[in-house]
Amino acid sequence: MANRKTAFVDVSHCAACGACAAVCPRGAISVIGGCFAQVDSEKCVGCGLCARTCPAGTITASYAGGRS
Ligand code: SF4
Ligand code: SF4
Repeated sequence: MANRKTAFVDVSHCAACGACAAVCPRGAISVIGGCFAQVDSEKCVGCGLCARTCPAGTITASYAGGRS
């Protein structure tokens, strides 16, 4: 699965607004404890919708595995 994109959250800048979770078509994002968003990489298909929606610009969709 090294060529599959996955969303990553920079939790230090996450405002826990939940906008990303609301738009994710896969239900892959949860806001943990009202503090930060967490992506379930098993569910994420790397569509990038969350990254385009996040008002803080704190989600990026990139390739898991890191070598491609
Ligand atoms: S990249 Fe797409 S599938 Fe993955 S967490 Fe973001 S909105 Fe959901
Ligand atoms: S949209 Fe951005 S700021 Fe809001 S919960 Fe998601 S990652 Fe955090």
